[in-house]
Amino acid sequence: MIHFNRPYMTGKETEYIRQAVVGGKISGNGEFTHRCQEYFEKRYGFRKCLLTTSCTDALEMAAMLTDVGPGDEVIVPSYTFVSSALAFVRQGATIVFADSRADQPNIDEASLESLVTPRTKVIVPVHYAGVACDMDAIMAVAGRHGLLVVEDAAQSIDSFYVSRDGTRRALGSIGHLAAFSFHETKNIISGEGGMLAVNDERFVRRAEIVWEKGTNRAEFFRGEVNKYGWVDVGSSFLPTEVVSAFLWAQIEHLDEIQAERKRLWGEYMDFFSGGVAERCGLKLPCVPGCATNNAHMFYVLFPDLARRSAFIARMREREVLTVFHYLPLHSSAFYVEYAKAHRPSGRAPTDLPNCDRYADTLVRLPLYCGLAPDQGRVIAAARESLS
Ligand SMILES: *Cc1c(COP(=O)(O)O)cnc(C)c1O
Repeated sequence: MIHFNRPYMTGKETEYIRQAVVGGKISGNGEFTHRCQEYFEKRYGFRKCLLTTSCTDALEMAAMLTDVGPGDEVIVPSYTFVSSALAFVRQGATIVFADSRADQPNIDEASLESLVTPRTKVIVPVHYAGVACDMDAIMAVAGRHGLLVVEDAAQSIDSFYVSRDGTRRALGSIGHLAAFSFHETKNIISGEGGMLAVNDERFVRRAEIVWEKGTNRAEFFRGEVNKYGWVDVGSSFLPTEVVSAFLWAQIEHLDEIQAERKRLWGEYMDFFSGGVAERCGLKLPCVPGCATNNAHMFYVLFPDLARRSAFIARMREREVLTVFHYLPLHSSAFYVEYAKAHRPSGRAPTDLPNCDRYADTLVRLPLYCGLAPDQGRVIAAARESLS
């Protein structure tokens, strides 16, 4: 059976974990954590990075930092993972779901202006498949209405956005705050893991406090204060050094991992764009001019649910696992109940047709480092399944 994902090991993970263990400091905020954080800050231009135990945690930190609460509204695409909305639900905020674009699953930036109300506080763009949302448009709406932008950059490591003026910036460096994931299904991994990127100076000090259980412990360890105490809300968001050591081994091979994933992605694209997509009525991933491709995911869109289901079943018969993706959050059991007590104040649409369409028609193909020897089998199975 060819799996949809396999965690890739670079080889040094256990050696660095051993170093962390014998080094005698295995709690958080140690040497490996600092190394990882500084690497990302320097390479991608984030003002401040804090490793977390997951992207969900990083989103929760971001939600706490934005100070949203009951009555405040947060705009989130419906076609995303639960955590993009859940982090703000935990603050008691109202979620206003936005539809996806017609040509790709990212949030429809043209719909944002109609969703903003006097209660709106935050927009959460999710860069689906590591492909940039239209950040110029989103930041402009945020600027006009004094909103904060929290990028869900879970899938977006090493991907970029090219502004109208030609400047190229890393995803996660544009919004006020951004959250990354190192879950084993992402490009670089630590099992469970994540990171908060803080780009707005106003949040730098407080982010560190929220990270360290509401205390100024980090300042104490840097010798900036002579005792530390409880100064704010927070939780225990930082990973142990064991996790950071694992992540460091992955970071050292980031460029090779990215090159390998892009090769695999390119093979799929060559196969599907060579007449197959056209013949079968499939739509292929669209990477607009403002975005780069970090090869987080290769997906195709079927004309309808029945044809997608048939494809997944036929691929499985040929021992290849392909998977659909998100179920719309706006019609989830939890949200329908939650919205009864947290109803958007404006005229947020309840019908999100593009989101529903991606939920029904999108299918993802196996893509991981180490797939290369088996990719021919996946493509052969796809050829047969589509014939
Ligand atoms: C993976 C993912 C998350 C959650 O990441 P965890 O590290 O598992 O918490 C959140 N949002 C998106 C868009 C994701 O792809």
